[in-house]
Amino acid sequence: MTSTDDRIATEDGLSDRVAHLQNAMHRLGADVIRLQTQLSDLASTAPQEPSEESPTSDAAPFIFNLSREAYKSELSSLVTWVNDFLVPVYVGEALPWCPVWWEHHEAVGRLHALRLAYQELTDTTVSGATGPGIWHRDHLDPALDRLCAETGPFASCLSGKGHVEHRRSAAPAHSA
Ligand SMILES: [Zn+2]
Repeated sequence: MTSTDDRIATEDGLSDRVAHLQNAMHRLGADVIRLQTQLSDLASTAPQEPSEESPTSDAAPFIFNLSREAYKSELSSLVTWVNDFLVPVYVGEALPWCPVWWEHHEAVGRLHALRLAYQELTDTTVSGATGPGIWHRDHLDPALDRLCAETGPFASCLSGKGHVEHRRSAAPAHSA
């Protein structure tokens, strides 16, 4: 009875030690994987810093640099942004604004540039806390001043005769 108990006790002790060793091996394996991950992170980040600083690599292209189809899609998105956000919030009723502003090339270019700047500068994780203020001062105000100026692109549309088109070859609303 005692010999059997002893053998069981010894076997229990052995299996406990084996279990401890297996746990230790698993922990070591996890450490190795973690170190390998850190090494590969270091290897992938180290060479990027000197070669090129490219904070704008994720930025969308300017609308005039897009293909014809991409232009239509981007213009549609721009119209939504301008009409649903920019005009209600910043233009209002006081400023002269052409209701078909997208038929003015200059307006499309300036408003798209304004939107690109908005996307970058209102992301404070990218632009810092002063980004939104810079957007208002350096982008929004000059853009509205220019678009609504007496010599701006909308001036001839607001003379009483209504919108004066400077038509492109295809209007965006006619896209298939
Ligand atoms: Zn117009």
